[in-house]
Amino acid sequence: MEHFRVEQVADDAWAAIALPGAGAVANAGFIRVGDSTIVFDTFISTAAGDELRLSAEVIAPVAYAINSHWHTDHVNGNSAFADVAIVATERTRELMEERTAGVPDVVFPTDVFEERLEREGALVETLGGGHTESDAFLWFEDTVFTGDLVVIESHPWVGDGDVEHWLEILDAFEARRPRVIVPGHGPIGSVEDIPPLRRYLEGLLDGTATAVEGWNFAEGHDRNVEALRL
Ligand SMILES: [Zn+2]
Repeated sequence: MEHFRVEQVADDAWAAIALPGAGAVANAGFIRVGDSTIVFDTFISTAAGDELRLSAEVIAPVAYAINSHWHTDHVNGNSAFADVAIVATERTRELMEERTAGVPDVVFPTDVFEERLEREGALVETLGGGHTESDAFLWFEDTVFTGDLVVIESHPWVGDGDVEHWLEILDAFEARRPRVIVPGHGPIGSVEDIPPLRRYLEGLLDGTATAVEGWNFAEGHDRNVEALRL
């Protein structure tokens, strides 16, 4: 089964870009540090998570997996990593327990952090919430795996987060000039992909945003407008 395609974005970093279909939905990725790999996000299904683990272990055994945020399309594949540590912010673990308890059968994070976690050469960080109440990302050299804080050629979903703070997080990403952005949804991009997302989010705040021609998740636009009205 083919849920995603692997694209190498640096000597020791690979993006796992979801293919159309139901098994993956969101993007994931992995990096090599020393003699192990670290996985970022785990897709929406155990099947895709299993495939991700196999892909990472072609390179080296998996030391741990990171969850960017609680949304199921990023964490349902945790079951493929149940025998290693799963890392998330403390708030993300709480949200997973609150929101997914009794709905999907999710494996919860085993290790939590508050602001940043440097482990085996990788820097996992959060600047608080934007897309959700708590969003983590992974910096590795000049590549950033953003989770849904950056989506490319796709409408973002704003109903679980804080758009104003999200914009501040985007500023912080831009200031660090990533060469490669592995987004939560859509193709691999760069720092150039932040301004269109920022313009859309600003438009939602001031009531001028319209659905963007050519972006996926078109139905998300009306849902975003509705969510901000509540
Ligand atoms: Zn999300």
